[in-house]
Formats: sequence, C-alpha cells, structure tokens
Amino acid sequence: MRSIYLDNNATTPVDPRVLDAMLPYFREHFGNAASRNHRYGWVAEEAVEKAREQVAGVIGASSKEIIWTSGSTEGNNTAILGVARMYADKGRHIITCRIEHKAVIDPCKFLESEGFEVTWLEPDRSGRVRMEDLRQAMRDDTILVSLMFANNELGTINPIAEIGALCKERGVIFHTDATQAFGKVPIDVEAMGIDLLTLSAHKMYGPKGVGALYVRRKKPRVRLQPIIHGGGHERGMRSGTLNVPGIVGCGAAAELCRKEMPTESVRIARLRDRLWAGLSEHLTDVSINGNLEHRLPNTLNVSFLYVEGESMMMGMGDIAVSSGSACTSASLEPSYVLKGLGLGDDLAHSSIRFSLGRFTTQEDIDETIKRVVSAVNHLREMSPLYEMAQQGIDLSKVQWQRH
Ligand SMILES: *Cc1c(COP(=O)(O)O)cnc(C)c1O
Repeated sequence: MRSIYLDNNATTPVDPRVLDAMLPYFREHFGNAASRNHRYGWVAEEAVEKAREQVAGVIGASSKEIIWTSGSTEGNNTAILGVARMYADKGRHIITCRIEHKAVIDPCKFLESEGFEVTWLEPDRSGRVRMEDLRQAMRDDTILVSLMFANNELGTINPIAEIGALCKERGVIFHTDATQAFGKVPIDVEAMGIDLLTLSAHKMYGPKGVGALYVRRKKPRVRLQPIIHGGGHERGMRSGTLNVPGIVGCGAAAELCRKEMPTESVRIARLRDRLWAGLSEHLTDVSINGNLEHRLPNTLNVSFLYVEGESMMMGMGDIAVSSGSACTSASLEPSYVLKGLGLGDDLAHSSIRFSLGRFTTQEDIDETIKRVVSAVNHLREMSPLYEMAQQGIDLSKVQWQRH
C-alpha cells in the first residue's frame, strides 16, 4: 500500500528548493558568521542577515528584531522565562491557556515553582480563548500574556489582533507561539500588536533544529534575560555559534511561504474540505473538533465515534496521521487539548488529526477517504458499542459491570 503523509503539523518534509539553498553552506561556505576578519566569516554573516530579512518579511518585522534559536521549544522558553525574569520587579503574574503546546505550558509551570503566578485560561468549545476571560484575568501585576496563534492539534486560530490590542492597552507584553500559523496565514506583528513571536523551520518546509524568535524593538522595546549565556551573540539574548546552513534553510523556507501562501493556502484548504466532504458523506457519527471559521487551511481534526483512534491508524494502512490518544507519546491518556475543549474520553480517544501540506495531492486525499471509510466501517462492525448504539441504547446510561 502506498504511503501517504498527513502529519505536517508534526513536521514537514524539507522543500527541495530549501535544501538546494542550504547545501553550499555545508560545503564551500562553511565559515563562522561571527568571524569578522576574513571572507569565510563575511560570506556566512551575509547569508545569516539575508535569512533574517526573509523571516522578518513574512511577519512585517524588521530584520533586527529576529533572534535565531534551535526551534520553537527554545523560542518559547526564551520568551517566557526571559520576560518573567527581566520584568519580575514589575510583577509576577502571567496569563496563558490550558491547551497551549507543552513548550509553553512547561516553562509556565516551571515559573510557578519559582513563585510566579499563572492564570490558566479555559478555551471555549472550539478551542479559542474568550476575550472576556482574558480581560478579567488581567491584573496590575500581569507582565506577560502568552497565547498561541494557531493550535497544533485543532488548527483553531485565536483572536490575535484583539489580544494584542488589549495587551497594548494594559501595557502587558504579548507573546504568541506562531509555530503552526507562520507561513500558513497572514501575520503582521504591527497590526496585531505582537511583542514576541515564536516560529520553527521544520513546520514550514525547512530543516529541523532551527527557528527564530521575533523580539519587538520599539513601542515597547522588549528585553529578555537570556537562558543561554556566552559570547553575546544575537544581541545577547541567545549566545552560541549560529547554525548557518539551518538558518539559510529557515530563511529560504520563509521566503517560499511568503510567495506561495496566497495560492497554496487556497489549494490546501480545498483539499481539506474535500477530505471532510468525503468522510462525512460516507460515514455517520463523525464530527470536526475545533473552530470552523477561525482555522488554519491545512488541519482537520475529526472524531469517529465508537472507534479508537489507535485502531484506526492501524486499520488504514500506511497513512501518517496523529491520534488524540497518541499525541503525548508514551501515555495512553487522551489528548489534553481535546479534553480541554470539554470532549469526553470517548470522543477524544476516537479522534484523528489530518494535517495536509505543500506536497499533499488530490490523489492522496481520495485514497485517504477510501481507506479511512473502510477502516471505520470495519471497526464499527466489530464494535459491541456501535451495535448497542444502533439499537438505540443510550451508552451514557449503561451501568458497566466491573470485573
Ligand atoms: C512543533 C511545535 C512546537 C515545538 O517546536 P520545535 O521546533 O519542534 O521545538 C511548539 N509549538 C507548537 C505550536 C508546535 O506545533
């Protein structure tokens, strides 16, 4: 059976054009971008500065506001820990949300252990933060709001411009994890009032292990206490010899996204809608998780009632997707994101995230519909729960026998 990749929110393949841009920086242009006194260094530095402009160009920033990182986990940690420690004298209260990526949740939890106070907003049923909740959570000692641009499991997009405006009004720094949104939907740090923004190359057809953090330089000038010390690279916010080939790849990938976003996002959204149309036409008891209006073009999270996501993944052959019960790898706990929406364990366990990408074709989608429909039908035929439900038994009222 042909293998199909629909897990682009986990990572994307490197675009061949990105790889081509990177290769010379592994070979002849291997210089250290910090070497100031010979051509090898200058060539590397020039490439790094060009990449900075390419990344800045996607979000309406200046290239001086881009700090290179090893990816979004580091970017989120640098932003959150960096602001908390730099502005601790002003206040020790942070606001975030329960369904953020672990790379935001865990540094916030860590800060709680250091004596900071965190307000964990609950999203609405569709995975969006409510402005009213955010407004009420704001305090005089709030120093940071960290809310993701788009959710990685659902594709749901937060009201970023409204959040930015409220933060400006209250003089609070606004950080957004835009790992999933960058290159997929328009972002403008000025119009949206964003002070810090995290992105990662490997979610937008660049290489793994490299990313960037946007740090606003005026109105306000955001300062960060670094978590990595030594050498003073990247305006002192992130020391360490730069990963020049990776950075070149990150820049090239960003540039391609900027150029292709208008056509690519339309094409991918059409395929996503085709996938949902096919699934919902042939199957009963299926539902979309996440917001239907404010969402990424590429993500479709579906619950298939009465079947287990994990069994489905095995049943549909070589199709790479994520399931709501597998996301946090080792544990078989259903996804905290889906549970955070208020979904019961049954719906969370039966969910599958399809994330499409630049290299997804219509044939991939049609083949996926066929295999998923057949796997779900097969699993439901064998499912006593499904049979009971078909007989009109209300499963929520059943008294299960314990052994
Ligand atoms: C993938 C992802 C991360 C982590 O990024 P890495 O570059 O892999 O560290 C953080 N946030 C979101 C929303 C993501 O999708």
